[in-house]
Amino acid sequence: MAQSALDVVVVGSCNTDFLSYAPHLPKEGETLTGSKFETGCGGKGANQCVAAGKLGAKTAMITKIGDDIFGLEFLKSFKANNVKCDHIGVVKGVSTGVAAISVADNGANCIIIVPGANNSLTTEDVEAAEETIKSSKVLVCQNEISLDVTLAALKLARKQTVKCIFNPAPAQAGLHSDFFTIPDIFCVNETEAEIMTGSVVNSVESAIAACKILVENKNCRSVVITLGSNGCVYQAKKGDEPMHIGTDKVFAVDTTGAGDSFIGSLAFFMCKFPHLSMAEMLKRANKIAARSVTKRGTQVSFPTASELPADLY
Ligand code: ADP
Repeated sequence: MAQSALDVVVVGSCNTDFLSYAPHLPKEGETLTGSKFETGCGGKGANQCVAAGKLGAKTAMITKIGDDIFGLEFLKSFKANNVKCDHIGVVKGVSTGVAAISVADNGANCIIIVPGANNSLTTEDVEAAEETIKSSKVLVCQNEISLDVTLAALKLARKQTVKCIFNPAPAQAGLHSDFFTIPDIFCVNETEAEIMTGSVVNSVESAIAACKILVENKNCRSVVITLGSNGCVYQAKKGDEPMHIGTDKVFAVDTTGAGDSFIGSLAFFMCKFPHLSMAEMLKRANKIAARSVTKRGTQVSFPTASELPADLY
C-alpha cells in the first residue's frame, strides 16, 4: 500500500487569540480589571493542527490568513510546529481572524470571534488542495469556516477513503444531514451535543443518551462527546452501547483549547498508532487534553511528544 505523505490535514480556521485573565467572567455591562493579557495563535483549525503537529504528526493546514502581522505569526508558528503551509492563502486588505477570550480564575472562559480572512476560504481552495488531502491519513474539520468549504473537504476525504473527524464547533443548529453521515468520527462537547440533539447534556448518563441520538437517529458513523473533567463518551456504531472513558484528575488553570488538544491528539493517535483500539486512543487523548488544562494559554499549553510519559507515546 502506498505510504501517505502526510498524517493529518486540517481544513479550518486561524484566529489570533487575545487572552484577558480576570477573577471572574464579566456580566453584561460590567467592566472588570484583569490581571494579565497575552496574545497567541489560535482558532480551532490551527489549534487542532498544531496539537497533532506538536505530538509529532506530519500535518498540513488549509486556511486563509490576512496580510497583517498576525498572519505572519501564524506562518512562523506553523513552521515551528511541524505544519506544512503550502495551502495557506494570504488575503490582501483583510484581517486575520481574531478571538477575544476572557479567562476566569476558575478556568471558565467566554469568547467572541471575528472571522476576517477565514471567510475567504472557498471550495476552490479545497479543490486546489485535493492532492494534499488525498495524501493524508486523517482530515479534521470544524465549524469556524464556511459550511460549504467544510462539506467539500469532508466529501473529498470520504471519496478518497481518508478518515475524517468533524468537530462542529462552534455548534450551529440545523446542519445538513451530510455533516452527520459523512465523517468517520463526529466529535462534540456537551454544549454542542445539546444543540445537535435538543436534549440536555450535563452528565455521563445524558451524554450516553445524546450519543445514541446522534448515531441511531442522526446516522453518525461514530460519536465522541467530550465531558471536560469527566473525559468523554464514545459510541462506535449503530447498535453498540456507548462507553464512558474517564480521565486524570488535574488542577485546571485554563480550559481554553482543551477540546482542540483532545481532537488533535486523537488525530495523532489514529495516524501514528492505528493498531490501538479507539477506546485506548480516546483514553490517551483524554490524558493529553487533561495535561493541557493545567497550563495557561491555548497552543502553548499543548504538550510535545518529549513532555509525555512513555505510556502515552
Ligand atoms: P471543549 O474545550 O470543547 O469545551 P471539553 O471541556 O469537553 O471540551 O474538554 C475536552 C477534553 O479535555 C475532555 O474530554 C478532557 O479529556 C479534557 N479536559 C477538559 N477539562 C478538563 C479538566 N478540568 N480535567 C481533566 N481533563 C479535562
